[in-house]
Amino acid sequence: MEPIQESPTIRQQLIERLSAGTCGVRELSQELHQSEKELYAHLEHIERTLKSGGKRLVIEPAVCLSCGFLFEHRTRPQPPGHCPQCRKPRIRRPRYTIR
Ligand SMILES: [Zn+2]
Repeated sequence: MEPIQESPTIRQQLIERLSAGTCGVRELSQELHQSEKELYAHLEHIERTLKSGGKRLVIEPAVCLSCGFLFEHRTRPQPPGHCPQCRKPRIRRPRYTIR
């Protein structure tokens, strides 16, 4: 029983899913039956490992639905909690693709 044994499989599924098209973490969570927290950890790992294979994880930045502020500077997968410009929490969360 090795608890980490499942991770490469999930990562492989994630890579295949994101190579096929853009997806947000909420949908990935439903499709792959992983918690969002686990998926963010996997995404960070994938981002690092893809670089050696000539591909990359493209993060479509989060955007504030209240004022339109784009979180372009943000490269880490975790979603922002609220908008730095208008302080409202209506954030459309980031979406991911592998190219
Ligand atoms: Zn805003």
